[in-house]
Amino acid sequence: MLYWVFEALQLVIQLSKIIYLAIIGGTYYFIAKSCFSYIPGYYLSGIHRYTGLLGVGVGILLFLLTSFTDAGTVNAENVSQYLSAYPYDNIIFTDKECSTCKIPKPARSKHCGICGRCVARFDHHCGWMNNCIGERNTRYFLAFLLWHFLLCLYGTIAIGLVLAGRLKELRVVYILTVYYGIENSFYSLAPHVVQWLLGSYNTQILLMVFLAIVSLLLAGFFGYHANLCRTNTTTNETFKWQDYINWRRKLNEARASAAALKSSISGMSSESKLPESKWKAFFRRSPLEDAEVVVKNNVYDKGMFHNIWEVIYPLSTRRSFSQRKSKST
Ligand SMILES: [Zn+2]
Ligand SMILES: [Zn+2]
Repeated sequence: MLYWVFEALQLVIQLSKIIYLAIIGGTYYFIAKSCFSYIPGYYLSGIHRYTGLLGVGVGILLFLLTSFTDAGTVNAENVSQYLSAYPYDNIIFTDKECSTCKIPKPARSKHCGICGRCVARFDHHCGWMNNCIGERNTRYFLAFLLWHFLLCLYGTIAIGLVLAGRLKELRVVYILTVYYGIENSFYSLAPHVVQWLLGSYNTQILLMVFLAIVSLLLAGFFGYHANLCRTNTTTNETFKWQDYINWRRKLNEARASAAALKSSISGMSSESKLPESKWKAFFRRSPLEDAEVVVKNNVYDKGMFHNIWEVIYPLSTRRSFSQRKSKST
């Protein structure tokens, strides 16, 4: 039974790659089928028949690059270099051993259960790519997100221009105003134009809305990851920092409430003295507020340009990486 579940899971994992290809291929097919007959048009030249295909080609290439590039496997041969390249911060990363790989776990790495290996500067395991996003392929992953955002934006604008071109070519505004006697203003024409578009070009409108939504999602996703790169943090580390900050906060609160309890006990013993005024008690800071503020202290953040350069040119691909072994041993 468990075997079949495992097999089914493996199949789903393999299918994930096909899902991306099906989506991009299907979208391209429907755009080509519904729009290419209007290209070249009033606003778009014939070259857009080819730039779209080129855009999809580059997109697939980036997909393959991200999904087949080694994310940064840590093994017995390179572990000492990785340990030296990524020192422990002793906050969220401490000296530990991977119980599966039986090798030390360099800081910022994580063992991926799906890939069955330790990955350096582990970001996350990407289901779409069926690969980890780590030290060596974060750059391709970011390029993939940015490229697909731009591609979807391009598609949205291009279909918009195809429809605008149809309006112009078929002289829709002229017909509406002259033959139907509709007032020549934006507000009186807009509902009729929209109705005409929805009636005659619903496939194109649907594709446009789909691409606009996807491009917005991709913009958000790219923005999130670009910001992580700017601060030299991984998705995995954001969770670790959240856990650490929550843990510290609870610890501080517990300490503060213990101190408050202590002071109230000592207060009770000296109750015979002057009672504290209500106003004074009101303005007195609660011991909880005095709790130390927990801040994220990311030792891997070395400034924006350095951080971005580290993503573009990963440490393990540098010449200095292979020389690290002698230093650490
Ligand atoms: Zn491992
Ligand atoms: Zn993985």
